[in-house]
Amino acid sequence: KRKRDDEDLDGLNQRVQGINVKGNEYETFASMPLSQPTASGLEASHYKTLTDIQKQAVPHALKGSDILGAAKTGSGKTLAFLVPVLENLYRRRWTELDGLGALILSPTRELAIQIFEVLRKIGRYHTFSAGLVIGGKSLKEERERLGRMNILVCTPGRMLQHMDQTAAFEIDNLQMLVLDEADRIMDMGFQRDVDAIVEHLPKERQTLLFSATQTKKVSDLARLSLRDPEYVAVHEAA
Ligand code: ADP
Ligand code: MG
Repeated sequence: KRKRDDEDLDGLNQRVQGINVKGNEYETFASMPLSQPTASGLEASHYKTLTDIQKQAVPHALKGSDILGAAKTGSGKTLAFLVPVLENLYRRRWTELDGLGALILSPTRELAIQIFEVLRKIGRYHTFSAGLVIGGKSLKEERERLGRMNILVCTPGRMLQHMDQTAAFEIDNLQMLVLDEADRIMDMGFQRDVDAIVEHLPKERQTLLFSATQTKKVSDLARLSLRDPEYVAVHEAA
């Protein structure tokens, strides 16, 4: 079984390497080089056709690029980052023992909960552990679960509190940072929290930044947190 899995993963890795990011060739999730657990999770959640922002962002993100993505509310940005998060950890054979692999920052508790619910739906056939860190429980209670999580969805203030206060919080292995609704993160005054969080993170990582609007504050944040990003934007038809 182990050998079969390895061969499957080698094949998947080769197909991802072979993605032509200029081709914009994937209309459906079924046609993309995705793992079986993700493909099944998307199918079971009735996601079939990619939205425009997903078409543009997912191929680049699967290949490991940083992304600076802009598309209005309702355009499907959540899957544009959740699919690459699941896939890029899966292809690295991420397990519980590897600790925190991906950190997803969201400006509000409500939005964080929404992201977490989509993650649970499309990630249902994966074995990753995922948690929400949005306050509302005691720091101690949250802390006890943190150490076992592979993927965390959190609000900036609460995350920083843990980084400052949870001594054993293990973040050196982190592979991916997602900044969702970056424009709102900045508008709500979380800039210093996000800066402080980014300082705690390993430099060698992939960062995906999404926002509904392209503002100066967002480009400032992008400059600090992204490395040679791919710019993907979906504009409304005039
Ligand atoms: P955004 O973050 O850009 O505001 P969301 O990720 O919240 O957008 O998605 C908006 C809506 O579109 C949600 O109801 C979501 O389930 C739906 N959606 C996203 N991607 C797809 C897709 N590929 N196919 C069908 N529906 C989708
Ligand atoms: Mg969103």
